[in-house]
Amino acid sequence: MLKIYNTLGRELQTFEPIEKDKVRFYHCGPTVYWTQHIGNMRAVVMGDLIRRTLMYLGYDVKYVRNYTDFGHLTSDSDEGEDKMEKGARREGISPKEIADKYIKEFEIDVNRLNVLEPSVTARATDYLQPMIEMVQTLLDKGIAYSTPTAIFFDVSRFPEYTKLSGQKLDMNMLGEGHGDVSDSNKRNPADFALWFFRTGAHKNALQYWPSPFKSSEVENGNGFPGWHIECSAMAKANLGDILDLHMGGVEHIPIHHTNEIAQSESANDTDYVHYWVHNEHLDVDGTKMSKSLGNVYNLSNIIEKGYNPLALRYFFLQSHYRSKQNFTFDALDAASKAYERLINFVRTWAKESESVNRPDYQVDEEFKDRFIKSLEEDFNVPAALAIVWELTRSELPSHIKLGTLLDFDRVLGLRLDESLSDPETLEIPLEAKILLEERNIARINKDFKLSDELRDRLQNEFRLMVKDTAAGQEVTKA
Ligand SMILES: [Zn+2]
Repeated sequence: MLKIYNTLGRELQTFEPIEKDKVRFYHCGPTVYWTQHIGNMRAVVMGDLIRRTLMYLGYDVKYVRNYTDFGHLTSDSDEGEDKMEKGARREGISPKEIADKYIKEFEIDVNRLNVLEPSVTARATDYLQPMIEMVQTLLDKGIAYSTPTAIFFDVSRFPEYTKLSGQKLDMNMLGEGHGDVSDSNKRNPADFALWFFRTGAHKNALQYWPSPFKSSEVENGNGFPGWHIECSAMAKANLGDILDLHMGGVEHIPIHHTNEIAQSESANDTDYVHYWVHNEHLDVDGTKMSKSLGNVYNLSNIIEKGYNPLALRYFFLQSHYRSKQNFTFDALDAASKAYERLINFVRTWAKESESVNRPDYQVDEEFKDRFIKSLEEDFNVPAALAIVWELTRSELPSHIKLGTLLDFDRVLGLRLDESLSDPETLEIPLEAKILLEERNIARINKDFKLSDELRDRLQNEFRLMVKDTAAGQEVTKA
């Protein structure tokens, strides 16, 4: 029986899906204005582990992850600069180009970490209509109201507003994180924006759309949706009114997810999410990652230092999603060694199985039972990993140890089956060979832009790492 720690209620609860054997799972994705650091990557891997666990337990999981490609202001409240526009200004290209660039980068990185592709990848700019419809519903019900600068959600109309955060809401206080666009027409300081008109602080907004909403200050209701309504609308469009699971970082509890609940439950007249799951953050060297400390790493930095991305994935497996994890290079070295040891076990067991003529790898049911029991305790992957090491020390025959480990790897996602093939013979598919040849020509012609693009494609599409050496292109598995 699967138990999940539900932020709503703050307790371990037995998981009961809305529909038997099915899970509707929404995961708040990145705002695509910058390279995602390894802390963001850990959050994505944690979502992947939960999704893989559910699949391993036999559920049919519809997993939706979004890209926020507009309108997320630099503060989670309604203040500050637009993150996408900030990125666009920094690089002198349009917000759309910024989004395209960083989505591509993000997808390369999550693929390197062997994160399964979502069932649906929802890009916010593709969901303007459902967002507008939801805002309109809230206006029609009198739960939202408009001012010349924005459409606001009236928090006083949703008495359960703080049920997720457990915070006390003082309507007279400028609650931190509840935002204030310096709009004197706002009824309560805690009210948050559903739609910003292109006026006032946002009069030069680069990304804006017409809407049916009325403001005396703009034509055609021009403006852009608030960040929170994005997720409410994308979740509804892809998964329906009620979700089984909704995941995000702990920082989303007091504002983003609190506001999502208020909007969705008010608009849809029903519960929004049955189980709220929140992951803790990654520290580096015992402190928060920050630019000023120079301790912000992204996956490419890790690879440049010679680490396999899956060693980082292994490192992530060692801590529970609800615990903070501390990244150090010593810890990554240790994870790297442990990961290599697992690969060596796989190779050795495969050889041994062959030598006793047992290529029919089998799963040991007792180990599998214990592995499942660990995962069923709120997705306790570190405990499940401990069982993997017990398995390696067990007296079971090699073909059973191997079969069991490969079965566990459906959850762990370490691509252990790939080490079954001889490491000396790297199989390069024909298409990849063609790309390599094209890249060779590009290098001879000193077309480095094309050569970099082809290197990215080889990595992204074929998981092949290309290094330029004096002898030519050296290819290894990513
Ligand atoms: Zn979200």
